[in-house]
Amino acid sequence: MKKEVNLHIKPEYIEKYKNGYPLLSKESIADLNSLPQEGTILNLVDNKNRFIAKAYYGIQNKGYGWVLSESKEDEIDVAFFTKKIKMALEYRAEFFKDKSTTAFRVVNGEGDGLGGVTIDYFDGFYMLTWYSLGIYELKDLIIEALKSSVEYKGIYQKKRFDGKGKYLDDKNDFLFGEEANAPILVKENGVNFAVYLDDGAMVGVFLDQRDVRKALRERYAKDKTVLNTFSYTGAFSVFAALGGAKGTTSVDLAKRSLAKTQEQFRVNAVDLAQQNIIVEDVFNYFKYAVRKKLLFDMVVVDPPSFARSKKHTFSASKDYVNLLKEVIQITKKMELS
Ligand code: SAH
Repeated sequence: MKKEVNLHIKPEYIEKYKNGYPLLSKESIADLNSLPQEGTILNLVDNKNRFIAKAYYGIQNKGYGWVLSESKEDEIDVAFFTKKIKMALEYRAEFFKDKSTTAFRVVNGEGDGLGGVTIDYFDGFYMLTWYSLGIYELKDLIIEALKSSVEYKGIYQKKRFDGKGKYLDDKNDFLFGEEANAPILVKENGVNFAVYLDDGAMVGVFLDQRDVRKALRERYAKDKTVLNTFSYTGAFSVFAALGGAKGTTSVDLAKRSLAKTQEQFRVNAVDLAQQNIIVEDVFNYFKYAVRKKLLFDMVVVDPPSFARSKKHTFSASKDYVNLLKEVIQITKKMELS
């Protein structure tokens, strides 16, 4: 059994945790001076040492750990994680049957009671992403639980916990089973994605945007000019093009984005003639577009939470309003009927 340590919670936060709030916030901790090692299982207690919830300690940009259980009796072991993972899999059972979607998230962190880790499914392969050293310390239990809950071709991991949520490059993200081709082709609502499971921090697609991509294709893109900012591999552009957009413009700073975006169009047999792919800082592009009086019917804005380019530092929490002001300048006004 893993050692458990009591951690005192400030009185004003107790109700919140009793009502199921999952994030162990720094502000809620009464004994900040005596924190244990990351990965330690914590019994959150009040000032009379009465049990509130069970959590683990792991520092993430969001907070200091996540609640795992409301029960004092729960032991945080393989069986515990197996139960959580099986519940998450059960909840997504329909996706496993759906031949038009072969890539989707199966464990969505705190949404599935497992804050600090996500598990994505890519056509038989599983990708674990660890967001703190604390949860990574529990990896053996979680991986064992995953292996006993699914049939897999292979298992991969990404570590994103240098303290700033950045990727720690191991040069090798492969863990078990067979290695995946580079790329493998997966589907989302019938659209292909080329996915590279072991090629740096990102695999080619962010699965949490599935519904947005679907809405773009089915409801918004038809006959529109679409600008996709922070476009990465152009996933939104591909859906817009397939939804009948008049043309797409994808802008990303990273040189790799050009070839990667061309590849995503190609694997979906989209003619590249109407698809403009620009490698540039979006903040420069906004200036250029204003100068040229370019106006787009629709602009997709899905920036990283933090990015530093030569001239700009962008932080979603501080700079979103200004980003949107820039975007609005080059967005056509909609006729409201
Ligand atoms: N919207 C994308 C995911 C964005 S990932 C998608 O749907 O898949 C973040 C991307 O932002 C990275 O590709 C990174 O190169 C790019 N980026 C970061 N800062 C940027 C900047 N100032 N201008 C343009 N692109 C930037």
